[in-house]
Amino acid sequence: MRVCNLCSGSKGNCTYIETDNTRILIDCGKPFSYISEKLKELEVEPDLIQAILITHEHSDHIKGVDSFARRFNTPVYVHTSTLEIMQNQIHIDRNQFITFDSTFDLNDLSITPFPLPHDSKYCVGYRISQENAVVSICTDLGQFSEDTFEIIKSSALVYLESNYDPEMLMSYPNYPPFLKRRINGRNGHLSNLNCAQAIEKLYKTGTRLVVLSHISEHSNNVNLAVGTIAKYLNNKNIIPNKDIRLDITYQDQRGTIFRINPKK
Ligand SMILES: [Zn+2]
Ligand SMILES: [Zn+2]
Repeated sequence: MRVCNLCSGSKGNCTYIETDNTRILIDCGKPFSYISEKLKELEVEPDLIQAILITHEHSDHIKGVDSFARRFNTPVYVHTSTLEIMQNQIHIDRNQFITFDSTFDLNDLSITPFPLPHDSKYCVGYRISQENAVVSICTDLGQFSEDTFEIIKSSALVYLESNYDPEMLMSYPNYPPFLKRRINGRNGHLSNLNCAQAIEKLYKTGTRLVVLSHISEHSNNVNLAVGTIAKYLNNKNIIPNKDIRLDITYQDQRGTIFRINPKK
């Protein structure tokens, strides 16, 4: 698999995954012009995208779906629980929506959606595998539950939310109290510390590459996220970039291109 995040954060989310036979997007949360430009950087023509998989209906995840999917007739995959709300927001033909409620195959990829606690109608993460190569996308979650851990453990690559620093969140003057409560609530977003605790658990199951994702621009920054997580892991004798590689996503540029291939 070749995997690359095209953008991540409150301004828009999109991740590209391909194999020899399959090219898909997870979310499409920026305008078509941005997504197509980033795909072209990867030498992928946007009309070759075979499916857009949606995590949930918040605008930072679906903003570009209309213009993308209408242009190329791209099928849009949504959980059965979100179909109705998606139909109100994405104006494509009903037949272009494909619903799922459990694991399904897309050519050579096996895709397992799993529920995440987040304040949308319904929110899923994805475990995506090609044979024994596994990539998981786990963003927009208020807490990292045991159920989530059981599904994504031992993934070769995990895009994991590291959304906010609690002190920065609480002292940010431009968020009203209800929004602060929302973000750090059980159905909000994952803090740097909660992310670190999740990484520790994943590391123990064999995960060696985690990409910190959906980093807030107001209540977090890359240095703080990486610093908090590195400190936590060091205290657990897990040495970042020796024992486990940490990488990051960006709001307005694509991230690292990873190659995750099945092991014989
Ligand atoms: Zn959301
Ligand atoms: Zn989001």
